[in-house]
Amino acid sequence: MNVVNLLLQHGKSNSRRVAVDFEGDLWTYGRLYEEVLKCAALLKTLGIEKGDRIALQLPKGMDFICLHLGIQFLGAVTLPLNPAYSHEEIEYFLSDSQAALYITNSEIFERTKKGLENLEHLKIMLTDDISPGGLEPIKKELSRIPKPHTEPCRVSENDISAICYTSGTTGKPKGAMISHKNLISNMLALQKIWRWTERDVLLHVLPLFHVHGLFVALHGALNSGCKTVMHARFDPVRTWEDIEKHKCTMLMAVPTIYYRLVNVKEMVQCDISSMRVFISGSAPLLENLFNRFEEITGHRILERYGMTEAQMITSNPYEPERRIPKSVGYPLPGVSLRVVDPDGKDVKPGDVGEVWIKGDNVFLGYWNNPEKTGESFHEGWFKSGDLGYQDPDDGMRLYLVGRAKELIISGGLNVYPKEVENVLEEHESVAQAAVVGLADPDLGERVVAAVVLKAGVESIDEQKLISYCRERLAPYKCPKQVFMVEDLPKNAMGKVQKSALRRILESKV
Ligand code: ATP
Ligand code: MG
Repeated sequence: MNVVNLLLQHGKSNSRRVAVDFEGDLWTYGRLYEEVLKCAALLKTLGIEKGDRIALQLPKGMDFICLHLGIQFLGAVTLPLNPAYSHEEIEYFLSDSQAALYITNSEIFERTKKGLENLEHLKIMLTDDISPGGLEPIKKELSRIPKPHTEPCRVSENDISAICYTSGTTGKPKGAMISHKNLISNMLALQKIWRWTERDVLLHVLPLFHVHGLFVALHGALNSGCKTVMHARFDPVRTWEDIEKHKCTMLMAVPTIYYRLVNVKEMVQCDISSMRVFISGSAPLLENLFNRFEEITGHRILERYGMTEAQMITSNPYEPERRIPKSVGYPLPGVSLRVVDPDGKDVKPGDVGEVWIKGDNVFLGYWNNPEKTGESFHEGWFKSGDLGYQDPDDGMRLYLVGRAKELIISGGLNVYPKEVENVLEEHESVAQAAVVGLADPDLGERVVAAVVLKAGVESIDEQKLISYCRERLAPYKCPKQVFMVEDLPKNAMGKVQKSALRRILESKV
């Protein structure tokens, strides 16, 4: 089945319900449905067919949503792209994906057009009316399109619905081919375990060009028939205020967002009693942040684990225990999970290994990269690249310790950066910490940390901070050097890019 059947199911039966309140502009399910049909018809006039890749590089907004659903309606493939990407990045994504059409606005186009010069067969469409000559201004076109009466394109379950490039935390982003089956199975599993119903009100503060904001949050909400209150960009104060104003019940966010929410909460007096669940994922949620959030709000954040290639993989239970400290929870219904050693043999519960995943959630492979796809699978199991262990008591519950690529081997011993970062971030002067391994003639790699100090803290004594770690960690895990930095290099999802940090620190030593 085409995922759009589920996403538009309320367009006819619940057409007067509000689907999205985008910054005060109310979109009922009926209005959304009509606009999606028009977008599909418009794309068809441009010659778009099933399987064509359409790159969407637009700011968060209804244009993006309607076009994405219109693309799905035609059985074509959505390629969501970060509006901040430069012309070089766009050239890479468009040529790698062999996109048939690039949809953007004139402001972004001014910045990216240099990257389009060598892309011969690419069509370009701008969403605003102020388009330079020769390009189609979509708004004008849409008003001319008669209301079409068609059904969504029939697709098979393994047809590609989207190509999502990974966040690029560990290297160049890879294009993950995501099928209709991947999206549908995951959406239905999340609806069930998070008890999502049409009575919910989701506050949406995430970007739309990523699995978390587009599939988990937006698709999930449209499928359940609930209302989504959507902010064009995240603002911590408005987030608290709008929870009260719109009586929101759900929020999905990444740890950086929770960190900022905690920082402003004391300034904002508001009633958040309507909320039933705060969900976190995309990056590790540190213990002190989880605890602080609970102290302030009385809510235990529900943490889940996912990735572009496998959608959502595990989640903590909704009830009875919303979060077991440090655990990312249990595999979702229909998801199988193993933890294996470097030879691919299962390790004992409690022992650390790589997390392997199988199920309808697992993607089809990397676009245009059979070699990388081949390396990433073993007998149908997808090798996540994440390290973790299963609970020794129940053998199921998953704990993550970090990424295989970021593991530091110092003097032959394994150091998981996250463990050291947790300790550093508990220090009263440290706001954020990141730990990497730098080449060392004696140890192979030595542990080096970068810390961002809390506002108002001028400096910190490096040796004292190292001694602080020594009181809490085995000596081989303690940083040999600590650098104070203004900021950590992060990608659009707020994740620290360790390879960029490693380069920065190498230039300092
Ligand atoms: P790239 O693959 O390009 O290096 P990326 O892995 O950051 O980038 P995403 O697919 O957006 O790209 O992120 C998935 C990764 O995020 C997971 O593999 C995992 O390392 C991390 N992650 C997601 N949720 C959690 C979580 N709850 N706790 C810890 N890590 C998480
Ligand atoms: Mg990854």
